[in-house]
Amino acid sequence: MGTLSGKTAVVTGSTSGIGLAYARAFASAGANVVINGFGTPADIEKERSKIESDFKVKAAYSPADMTKPAEIAGMIELGEKTFGSVDILVNNAGIQFVSPIEDFPIEKWDAIIAINLSSAFHAIRAAVPGMKKRGWGRIINTASAHSLVASPFKSAYVSAKHGIAGLTKTVALEVATHKITCNCISPGYVWTPLVEKQIPDTMKARNMTKEQVINDVLLDAQPTKEFVTVEQVAALALFLCGDDAAQITGANLSIDGGWTAA
Ligand code: NAD
Repeated sequence: MGTLSGKTAVVTGSTSGIGLAYARAFASAGANVVINGFGTPADIEKERSKIESDFKVKAAYSPADMTKPAEIAGMIELGEKTFGSVDILVNNAGIQFVSPIEDFPIEKWDAIIAINLSSAFHAIRAAVPGMKKRGWGRIINTASAHSLVASPFKSAYVSAKHGIAGLTKTVALEVATHKITCNCISPGYVWTPLVEKQIPDTMKARNMTKEQVINDVLLDAQPTKEFVTVEQVAALALFLCGDDAAQITGANLSIDGGWTAA
């Protein structure tokens, strides 16, 4: 029996990267999980069935598009109908776009605010009534070092991530007496396939070695000069779901190799 046996976790944007690591960590502790996100049906089914076979739990998939409020509510409903409850909600889906503000495409601004910020509002709004009824809940939002500091050319991302930090605090206060906590995790650079794929192009574009790209470009802001791993982020989320974390709420937890200490 894992510490989360009998509980259900919904993780948005969990077909890859950090989200998939969260889903697998909760499943390893015995939770049933609802995964969500884009990808080819075959890849998604592979990850879904692997969670079931690796951890002997049930895993469902919601194709909800995080730009669509009704589909987000449907994802929470799917969790409640399939497994009886949604006890843990992780708002993690996110996209990035980099451009000077005067050229920033309006539709990219709208998409980033919708996926990286508003989707969390819609999911929390739908999940809180059930959590209150059962008297237990954990809400975790993936923010970013960019919820605390800015970088140029990331106006939408930085705005959305600062917004999610504010939403986290507000929700924490509203649900504080219901044994529901709401926190955000703020990673620095995390080693994901997305980051790995950028390296060869940057090596070519800047005529740099792999080590130079990692240290001087990607990890320029990260004092440890090491990437955060998805497993480290997921382990923090798992800790937040435990009894030892019952008094951690409204917090913005950095896991950024010292980035925001500088
Ligand atoms: P990723 O691209 O591997 O994962 C993003 C997930 O979101 C995928 O599952 C994707 O399918 C899903 N997604 C995108 N648009 C969606 C939509 N409209 N509806 C539903 N799902 C959608 O990226 P990641 O690095 O694992 O990022 C996960 C979260 O972590 C994001 O919120 C990101 O901002 C945050 N983050 C990442 C890093 C990093 O260095 N990788 C650092 C700080 C914060």
